Amino acid sequence: MMRSLRAQLSLSILLVLLFTVLLSSIFAYWFINREFEKYVARQEIARSESIADDVASQYNVLTRTWNEDSLHTIGMYSLYDGYILKMYDADGAVLWDAENHDVSLCGQIMGEISARMERAKRAGSFVTHTFDIDHGGRNVGSVSIMYYGPYFFSDNEFRFIRALSVALLLTGILAALFSVIAGSLLARRISRPVTVTADIAAQIARGNYDIRFESGTKTRELNELVTAVNCLAGALGDQENLRKRLTTDVAHELRTPLSAVGSHLEAMIDGLWQITPERLKSCHEEIVRLGKLVSDLENLAKIEGGDLKLNKSPVDLSEIARTAGENLKAEAAKKSLSLSIGGGPSVVDADRDRMLQVVTNLLSNAIKYSPEGGHISIEVTDTAADGIIRVIDGGTGIPENELPFIFERFYRADKSRSRKTGGSGIGLTIARSIATAHGGTITADSEQDRGSRFTVTIPKKMRTGDIPGG
Ligand code: ADP
Repeated sequence: MMRSLRAQLSLSILLVLLFTVLLSSIFAYWFINREFEKYVARQEIARSESIADDVASQYNVLTRTWNEDSLHTIGMYSLYDGYILKMYDADGAVLWDAENHDVSLCGQIMGEISARMERAKRAGSFVTHTFDIDHGGRNVGSVSIMYYGPYFFSDNEFRFIRALSVALLLTGILAALFSVIAGSLLARRISRPVTVTADIAAQIARGNYDIRFESGTKTRELNELVTAVNCLAGALGDQENLRKRLTTDVAHELRTPLSAVGSHLEAMIDGLWQITPERLKSCHEEIVRLGKLVSDLENLAKIEGGDLKLNKSPVDLSEIARTAGENLKAEAAKKSLSLSIGGGPSVVDADRDRMLQVVTNLLSNAIKYSPEGGHISIEVTDTAADGIIRVIDGGTGIPENELPFIFERFYRADKSRSRKTGGSGIGLTIARSIATAHGGTITADSEQDRGSRFTVTIPKKMRTGDIPGG
């Protein structure tokens, strides 16, 4: 059976606290009792000895007689305290005997003590100690003292030990109550953020990506959990938006050329339009555009799906730059753009065709987004670890808020402008996937209306942990 985190935490905290309280109460009770019993037992021995001393001091050495009045007083005082005395002279004749004196009082006192000790669950029995009394090296008598042994509680002592038990019991009960309250409060504090996070995760699963939640906890791990879930919601929301836009964009990309071709062909079939080579050519161009879009998509799916097989060999990035420049010379010339390629050779281990595709995509973007008569430069830099290739233009630039998204599929910074330029928003996505597959990176810096700079960094040796196609 599944139990809630809160219930489990409450139970654990409760058990730990209860166990601690119980153990310390029992130990305290046992220890105090034991020490008290020892103390009382010592007191009784001391008291017996002091009674014997008192009795001894009633012997008059000069007259060699006992002061019987005093013996009687000592005997009676002792009796009331629970000590039953029998005093003898040197010949063994009884001087004073509590039981002879008042047998019923003795019985009553002994009965009370026995009953009290039985109530205190410390049953013992009456013991007798006999003390010989000597004077000047001569025996002058003896006293035998009978009391409840090994110790007994006086009325006050009995009340004290009872009060102590009650106090410890009450402390135990209070501490147990406190454990229940503290346990459930503590468990609530710990489990609340987890419960709320689980709720939030469930809501995210249902598609509510806008939900965010304040953790309100000072526990680091819980705070991290809440932050992670919030980030997850954000990332999923972004993905969801991207997916929605992707579907709309694909539909849009396909519809425009399809409807153009469709209406042209229809007009020609209906005889409204004459079939001329120009009209057929225009239809053909649209179909070629569609074909390119589909192959771009296929290409991307292949790269992103991890199916990309890199055909690696030592490749000089400046040779790649020159080839790309050569391939796009005509395009650049159409806009009277000047192109410069600088920097020394830099050889990396890479798939030449794929790297050419990256640079071609970047250069073709630079051409597309540059004004007539502008300048584009490609720079190759060689470092110990990497080969770096930069494509720099002085074109339209990319708005700062769009910059983080330009590598996403179908993302176009300025939709109307980009469509006019014929872009589909896949070129950079492909470029990034290829760079990543080589264990490298691609970044963009841009300033609106000032131009853009794209930097591709390819490591000379694949670093461990780089996953091709990732
Ligand atoms: P597209 O085919 O639309 O150019 P890309 O993936 O190559 O698609 O680029 C995505 C978007 O990034 C472009 O629509 C454009 O807005 C922006 N972009 C890319 N390169 C440049 C550049 N050199 N100058 C300005 N904007 C650029």
